[in-house]
Amino acid sequence: MMINKIKEIEKTAKVLEVNFSEREQWNKNVFKYADAFLDVYVNEKTFIPYTEKEIKEIKFELSDIPENITNLIDHLKKSVDVPGLNPASGGHLGYIPGGGVYPTALGDYLAAVFNKYAGIYYAGPGAVKLENSLIRWMCNIIGFPETALGNLTSGGSIATLIAVATARDAQNITSKNISKSVIYLTEQAHHSVEKAIRISGLNECIIRYVPIDKYFRMDVSSLRKLINEDKELDLNPFLIVAAAGTTDTGAIDPLDEIADIATENNMWLHTDAAYGGFFILVDKEKEKFKGIEKSHSVTIDPHKGLFLSYGLGAVLIKDVNALNQTHRYQANYMQDKVETFSEPSPADLSPELTKHFRGLRMWLPLKLLGLKPFKAALEEKLLLIRYFYEEIQKIGFEVGPFPDLSVMIYRYVPKNSNANDFNLQLVEDVKKDGKVFISSTRIKGDVWLRLAVLSFRTHKSTIDYTLNILKNLVKKHSKGL
Ligand SMILES: *Cc1c(COP(=O)(O)O)cnc(C)c1O
Repeated sequence: MMINKIKEIEKTAKVLEVNFSEREQWNKNVFKYADAFLDVYVNEKTFIPYTEKEIKEIKFELSDIPENITNLIDHLKKSVDVPGLNPASGGHLGYIPGGGVYPTALGDYLAAVFNKYAGIYYAGPGAVKLENSLIRWMCNIIGFPETALGNLTSGGSIATLIAVATARDAQNITSKNISKSVIYLTEQAHHSVEKAIRISGLNECIIRYVPIDKYFRMDVSSLRKLINEDKELDLNPFLIVAAAGTTDTGAIDPLDEIADIATENNMWLHTDAAYGGFFILVDKEKEKFKGIEKSHSVTIDPHKGLFLSYGLGAVLIKDVNALNQTHRYQANYMQDKVETFSEPSPADLSPELTKHFRGLRMWLPLKLLGLKPFKAALEEKLLLIRYFYEEIQKIGFEVGPFPDLSVMIYRYVPKNSNANDFNLQLVEDVKKDGKVFISSTRIKGDVWLRLAVLSFRTHKSTIDYTLNILKNLVKKHSKGL
């Protein structure tokens, strides 16, 4: 009876072991669509609005009935790939643009097929070594010593969460001193920093917003003053969060001086280089990052500055033992795991146990293409923003500070109408055209437009298109007034 049932049900279950001819047909269709995307669609629109009603009509319900790959791809195209922003497009010049260098997908594909266990050295020594090598390479480019290691995360936010939790334990913040402990950051800090503070239980700390200077960088003398005052009050200053490339304006805080203040006061310095970190690969830019090597932890996002597809951030910690103190674990059912000191396991250095073997999506593109084109693309982005900075002024726009990296702010101040409304209207009009996408921000109540150049598909022609559309829109609206 049971034997018959096992045999019968095995037939249905075995469908999961997809056979060659099915794979062949699926692969053909998937790659055909990927090629159409890469060769055609990616160059079309950057933004395609869908109405709420159109989205409501899209269905993703599951059922027992298998469906055909061509229908499913068609469905995905219409319901997922088309609506909204296309982050793979070179026309994406808003927020922080996305990447999507093709071999990232192949790395993901292979990692998923092999399904190698990359959390623990004992199970996947090669996979763990590959990931640790990538982390060591990143530690090396920012100037961290041999004692440093870290973790490949799904993105910058999780990386920062790991860093903040590590800082909490390394600085002995507990229920006994939490309400007297102080964290310093600026209003330009990415919101993921405050999220990390809250999630890691540090919400009851005192948060000091350090004033910024006219370049939107942390004001060092104010930082020093705040810390001294807090010490006078018998408080416990323990953490400074600096930025190497803010999201709003791309500003790099004076890391070297901030690091010295951290050292003098025995504080932990975390540097958020999620967006800006990889610009250190451009020789001429290295100087701007001076002092980053004195941080205790750094967040850096390969899915931003290395142009990889979404899903890869990294936390780098100068003292790997601190990271291990916060994240190591023990379990009876894991008693066979072999402790090794030359290659620590990611599971001991992050909240994750079982995880995607995400190192492969970074290693494969860097090996297949070599580092040179990545460095060239980073330098190209810096030159493009400087070009835009010059040209946009020629057509009558105001600009913010000269960009430290590849993000800048600018705005048009019309003679006879409200500047905030005017600039918000420009964003809407550019969105309607759809070919490029820009975003805006508010600084001291004023609306500023942002240009963020970070897509590997953004080139001079994209910038010229953007300058031209802005010029025409200003002309059109000025006439209408
Ligand atoms: C993007 C960004 C983050 C958050 O990183 P995610 O990868 O989006 O989670 C943090 N800090 C800065 C400065 C960023 O630009």
